[in-house]
Amino acid sequence: MTRICPQCGRFLEEEWKSCPFCGKNLTAPLSVLTAEKKGLTGTLSIILGVISFIIFGIPLGLTAILLGSSALSKGDSNGKWGIMLGIFGILTAVIILNSGFWIF
Ligand SMILES: [Zn+2]
Repeated sequence: MTRICPQCGRFLEEEWKSCPFCGKNLTAPLSVLTAEKKGLTGTLSIILGVISFIIFGIPLGLTAILLGSSALSKGDSNGKWGIMLGIFGILTAVIILNSGFWIF
């Protein structure tokens, strides 16, 4: 059975403790590494969504939606909150801007 290096993507033997190609330490279980990566994208999309909602930032909202959908595609259910918050942030921004820039 072979594994793939999480850093350089090359095929590795199961018993190797580190990647001979890029030097990546492989002693941490791969499942833990991917779980951390998953959680980060989803959480980041939520944070961006919240910020876009607070400061009515359309670019931030778009980024939250993009990150959220990329998190969802990796099986991270946090991504849907990022998408929803991003949409909310953009909608709020559009409404506020249409009502005459009073916030600025
Ligand atoms: Zn490697």
